[in-house]
Amino acid sequence: MAPLPRRRLELHHPLLRRNESQAGQNRDHFHRHGLRTINLLSAPGSGKTALLEQLAHRWPRPPIGVIVGDLATDNDARRLQRAGARAVQIRTGDLCHLDAALVDQAFSQLDCSGIDLLVIENVGNLVCPAAFDLGEQRRIALLSVTEGEDKPLKYPALFKSADAVVINKIDLAEAVGFDRCIAIANLSAIAPQATLFELSAHTGKGLDVLIRWLDAKAA
Ligand code: MG
Ligand code: ZN
Repeated sequence: MAPLPRRRLELHHPLLRRNESQAGQNRDHFHRHGLRTINLLSAPGSGKTALLEQLAHRWPRPPIGVIVGDLATDNDARRLQRAGARAVQIRTGDLCHLDAALVDQAFSQLDCSGIDLLVIENVGNLVCPAAFDLGEQRRIALLSVTEGEDKPLKYPALFKSADAVVINKIDLAEAVGFDRCIAIANLSAIAPQATLFELSAHTGKGLDVLIRWLDAKAA
């Protein structure tokens, strides 16, 4: 079994290098447009799109821009458009993460006039999206109380790379027996650099704190 990791590294290395260079171009491009840009990552079903619907309603200078990645369907882009966001869908087919080139293509389809916040909703996956810089300024990892307190321990790379961690669905915490102290201890062990937010994208509780951080932090 020993040679397997080495072969995977050889495959990944040039691919990631090419991605880094496109990500740098994206970052310049976003900066020229005066955009603060967030890469939002989580497992499927953690509530990324629900969070962005709330953000679309509550951002102080609407509309927000969203580039949303899924393997198939444009359901999320349509949901976000209904919430007032300018949203472009990327359908990745069988690719389980976004890369900087896909984001660049989608960005060319986005009318970003009057927009100062762009969120990239990554494909729901806690593994390889962590390795792909998309040119974002800030990275947010989302975790919901239904997923168990040990997610950060199981998927450390993603949480270590995050500027902020959001614990979502706190309205369900009691019903699912979520142990907040254990979750926070795990997060501080794995991702001490990350600012922590606890909220419910369903009820809206706690969202204002995240919005203030997004507004100040990325300004
Ligand atoms: Mg989604
Ligand atoms: Zn992938």
